[in-house]
Amino acid sequence: MRLAVVFFNYGQGSLLNKMNTSTIQQFNLFIDGKLNPPLGGKYFDAVNPSYGEVFAHIADADSMDVQKALCAARSGFDAGLWPQMSIGERGQFLLKIAGLLRDNAKELADLECSSTGKTIKHTTFIDVPTAAETFEYFGNLPGSLINETIKVSSPVLSMIEHEPVGVVVAIIPWNYPLIMSAWKLAPALLAGNTVILKTSPVACASVMLMAKLIAQLGLPNGALNIISSSGIEAGRELVSSSLVDMVSFTGSSRTGEAVMSQAAKGVKKLTLELGGKSPNIVFADCDIEAAIGGCLSAIFMNQGQMCTAGSRLLVEDKIYQEFIEQLSARAQNLKIGPADSFETEFGPLASQAHRDTVLKFIENGQTQGAKLLCGGHIPDINTKGAYLEPTIFVNVQNHMTIAQEEIFGPVLCIMPFSSIEEAVHIANDTKYGLAAMIWSKDLEKANKVARLLRCGTVWINTYGAFLNEAPFGGYKQSGFGRELGRQGLLEYTQTKHIVTDQTPGGKSLVTSWF
Ligand code: NAD
Repeated sequence: MRLAVVFFNYGQGSLLNKMNTSTIQQFNLFIDGKLNPPLGGKYFDAVNPSYGEVFAHIADADSMDVQKALCAARSGFDAGLWPQMSIGERGQFLLKIAGLLRDNAKELADLECSSTGKTIKHTTFIDVPTAAETFEYFGNLPGSLINETIKVSSPVLSMIEHEPVGVVVAIIPWNYPLIMSAWKLAPALLAGNTVILKTSPVACASVMLMAKLIAQLGLPNGALNIISSSGIEAGRELVSSSLVDMVSFTGSSRTGEAVMSQAAKGVKKLTLELGGKSPNIVFADCDIEAAIGGCLSAIFMNQGQMCTAGSRLLVEDKIYQEFIEQLSARAQNLKIGPADSFETEFGPLASQAHRDTVLKFIENGQTQGAKLLCGGHIPDINTKGAYLEPTIFVNVQNHMTIAQEEIFGPVLCIMPFSSIEEAVHIANDTKYGLAAMIWSKDLEKANKVARLLRCGTVWINTYGAFLNEAPFGGYKQSGFGRELGRQGLLEYTQTKHIVTDQTPGGKSLVTSWF
């Protein structure tokens, strides 16, 4: 049964009594080791952007639920078992979570597809396995990565211990719900913190299913809490709470600024993984076919709703015309359709409301003098869905709004360049600094350019290679702090130095100062 469009039914309470719920799944909160219905009894609707239909009811946490989660996480850290366990024991729990993701891969991939509009090919082959791999990577890390003894010239034993920070609030966006959850939960839990994960109301059904699965594991009480909420109040309350020690936030730069000021209360530790406007630099000496494929992926995977989207394409003037003609032809050939078909290459955006925002940027680009090379319109597919054509602009100046602001949709701005200096200047001329791509067969040149770019990740002759072993994060207004790798793990720790004097005879110099 397909139901009429009721986009997130904020504040109206549960629709459960008003509609036939036979095909609608319901997801509850995960607090203090148990699945709980929301204390206020409200649920909000999750809408499938391929069809504009409600497919799930998600618990709508209010302040009472937030306080319950905060108390659980606080006592779980101050008096609970989780921080007392060895890193190896905690790692075993992470491996069990990975196992649950793998065992329930199809259902999770289907839900991720229904809630985000990401193609089923993407959720099946990227989202679910990547999330499982992240839990496996951190689950298998040896405890020696956390603590170390360093060599010093003084006659002392100098031990560095990385201890958990305490109660961590992790807030995620809607574009990669499962992967973003894994990136935060795996290192934060491994380090011995207790965690409250707050999902985005736009897309979170897969994460709430993950919560339901994790509830079977018997994690120590308070170790992990996962809450969903229809508004921003729950996130605000969590970030400002005096019971919290650290906030790990991923979302837009604008919200990041608000979170930073909220987290200032109580001087909380903070990491911010924010937006981007990543340059994709194509040199004339590249492998053109590979570069075209890479550029298409960089802007049209997940319909461009990626923080690292290569949304500014800089093409060397010698191949400019040939390159943009081929790219535009390939973009216009992408098969647009419902995300749940394996035939579909390009699904809907996350919601009609988000599509409206993207359409306003497209209008603004035309008003400012950029020219549509292709796309820019709503395709004739399903009027209830949130579809939009893959869109490419030429005649773009880097100062234009479409070249400066993160559109977070399938909109590519192409600009020509004639020298390395010009390419680097345009690439760095943005408030963001998340990622960049370079396409060239001259690896010496590509590496030289990589070092001139002010951003946290540079991909040479590829796109989107996120490695569990390597840190990922931004420069400038793309945020600070790193996820993944040892550096990502250490973000969730605080460092203690324990010094034991080893002076022969037992009396250190300071003991005879006076
Ligand atoms: P958003 O900033 O609107 O929301 C992100 C999360 O913050 C949501 O869970 C939201 O409910 C919550 N939130 C909103 N206001 C809050 C407040 N005042 N206090 C606490 N929490 C609050 O972002 P979005 O639209 O969900 O996601 C898209 C953005 O995320 C893009 O800018 C994208 O670039 C960014 N992103 C960044 C990365 C990265 O690793 N750098 C990864 C994915 C997405």
